[in-house]
Amino acid sequence: MPLPRRGVLTGWGSFPIAESDIYRPEKIAELAAVVTSNSTSVIARGAGRAYGDAALNGGNRVVDMQRLSRMLAFDSESGLLRCEAGVTIGEIIDVFLRRGFFPPVVPGTQFVTLGGSVAADVHGKSHHRDSSLGNHVTSIDLMLASGEVRRCSREENSDLFWATVGGMGLTGTILEVELRLRRVESAWFDGEISMAANIDEAIETFERTERQYGYSVAWIDCAGTRGSLGRSIVNLGNVASRQSLPPPLRQEPFKVPPRMHPTVPFNLPSFALSSLGIKTFNTAYYAMHRAGPKLFDYQTFFFPLDAIRKWNRIYGTRGFLQYQCVWPLSESRAGLIETLEAIARWGGGSFLTVLKKFGPQDGMLSFPMPGYTLALDFPITRELMEFLDRLDEMVVKRGGRVYLAKDARLRPEVFRAMYPKAGRWLEIKRGVDPENRFSSNLARRIGLPGGE
Ligand SMILES: Cc1cc2nc3c(=O)[nH]c(=O)nc-3n(C[C@H](O)[C@H](O)[C@H](O)COP(=O)(O)OP(=O)(O)OC[C@H]3O[C@@H](n4cnc5c(N)ncnc54)[C@H](O)[C@@H]3O)c2cc1C
Repeated sequence: MPLPRRGVLTGWGSFPIAESDIYRPEKIAELAAVVTSNSTSVIARGAGRAYGDAALNGGNRVVDMQRLSRMLAFDSESGLLRCEAGVTIGEIIDVFLRRGFFPPVVPGTQFVTLGGSVAADVHGKSHHRDSSLGNHVTSIDLMLASGEVRRCSREENSDLFWATVGGMGLTGTILEVELRLRRVESAWFDGEISMAANIDEAIETFERTERQYGYSVAWIDCAGTRGSLGRSIVNLGNVASRQSLPPPLRQEPFKVPPRMHPTVPFNLPSFALSSLGIKTFNTAYYAMHRAGPKLFDYQTFFFPLDAIRKWNRIYGTRGFLQYQCVWPLSESRAGLIETLEAIARWGGGSFLTVLKKFGPQDGMLSFPMPGYTLALDFPITRELMEFLDRLDEMVVKRGGRVYLAKDARLRPEVFRAMYPKAGRWLEIKRGVDPENRFSSNLARRIGLPGGE
């Protein structure tokens, strides 16, 4: 068994922190020794991009999967790629984009592992068309608590498959993933920027354009109130065909301009994120944009935040919370207005506020449901937790839920109310992990077994 390092870990939001024994296996046999050892509970960790405590296991063991990162097989006819779980989305893009293939679903950062992305069943900007990542995964090899490796797919062990997709690492450790890449003709997005004067215009833009554009996302100016509540910049696009590119780009359609990667050098002091600072940033950012057609390179379109390395440091040592919720379609407009009004009244402000539209998905603990989702970033303050408890009540009342991969504070009873398939998920968990070997800070906090 590899020797652990005792170390302190956090999620991307730098809150909470937890000390654990951290293992970095290079071989499956080493991983098996860690998983089956009869000691404390264990949780897999990918690139640590979950914001909260999903990949933490304070006082217990964490397995860093990033060394198990080989690409194993690719079929250029079907687009099927088999990889170890530690491969990142960015590595897949680096290898396959130039061959005309792109991951079918990508989250807002490419610095995530495939294992972490399946465990959170991540969504992208095309959920209304493509559903979540799990929808494109054809099979998973899962190491169970006993050390047995079980292949799961829609046909084989399908309950375990849908409990693992979105199951936050708690059914077992994902070793390999097979997924179908999508053929693309270029690395560019042909689209437009649309300015919405308020939340009704933003929703109207999503609804009107959803057949025309596969990808859509809106950035909301949280400084807007009353008639301008929810004013937004809506980015819309489709992968550009080679023919539609301007002649210089047509020659090398998979080449994009190199990106500068400035790094935030240290944690900024907390006054940088005062509510006045947040308001000024939001107002200025909105004013910078103009409506019109636009050609985006894939990095700008999908991963704008990746341009600045370690951007989470702008929130200082106290860290931040991302609160992402979704409402059923029939409740989305009312839920959005209620939430944006509550934020305006509260005065704390969200630095980055993002709106997307979801379609259906199948994972038992997966976050999306057909409707609109709002993601809000809040620097941690004394008043924040109480305010977010109030937002939870508003979300539950409308039949919505909060995303576990972003969460660090949801209470057990609220989790149960938000995730009605949790009971079925628990039955499957008990079947494969009766002693609750797999656990995490998240699991203990929201009252999943292993939490006692
Ligand atoms: C800037 C930014 C933008 C983001 N945008 C989006 C977005 O648009 N859509 C979205 O859905 N998410 C988004 N996320 C969240 C992110 O995609 C998820 O949290 C994802 O799970 C992170 O992957 P990771 O490899 O960093 O996993 P970690 O953060 O290390 O772990 C996340 C979860 O996966 C589990 N896990 C990791 N590896 C394995 C494995 N091999 N086997 C079993 N379980 C495993 C962990 O136990 C944990 O529960 C964003 C995050 C950031 C920082």
